[in-house]
Amino acid sequence: MQEQQLISIYEDAGALLTGHFVLSSGRHSPRYLQSAKVLMHPANAGVLGGELAALVNPDDVDMVVSPALGGLIIGHEVARALNKPLIFTERKEGVMSLRRGFSLEENTRVLVVEDVITTGGSVCECMDVVRVHGGDPIEVLALVDRAPQAEGRFDVPHRTLLQLEVPSYDANECPLCREGVLPAVKPGSRGTA
Ligand SMILES: [Zn+2]
Repeated sequence: MQEQQLISIYEDAGALLTGHFVLSSGRHSPRYLQSAKVLMHPANAGVLGGELAALVNPDDVDMVVSPALGGLIIGHEVARALNKPLIFTERKEGVMSLRRGFSLEENTRVLVVEDVITTGGSVCECMDVVRVHGGDPIEVLALVDRAPQAEGRFDVPHRTLLQLEVPSYDANECPLCREGVLPAVKPGSRGTA
């Protein structure tokens, strides 16, 4: 699938907006990305999961593991396309862990799937948990990389469908505020999205 087709899927779902936004961090940005809004439509999730799954050879993978919550829906769709089981790691009092009776056999080849990666922190914590339980992370797949210039985030290969830098600015230093053309809006508030 072409990158423009992928971007259209996001834009049509209201998951990728262009304008002048106040992010939940309080910073301002000309772009707003909310993957949950594209994945809320099962047909989108299925198509995107199929695209990610097509990047790997099913014979190289024993199991898909995703960090909750962000990676759950897309992880499920990738697992479905590969016909492999999916388990997930989740935070318990802030610490990423494997719960719910999930376990890994020694040397299980694990594909780690996430929706959006930026610093890669959750994915790295997820891989640490996999390793502690005897699994072997072989690759990271994600829908969107928000920091494609970043290097050395993972110690295994990673691939994403979209590389999408989302710049953000301190509210006092926002060039969009300075231009004063578009008022800053919170995504999801009335009149947007
Ligand atoms: Zn601004």
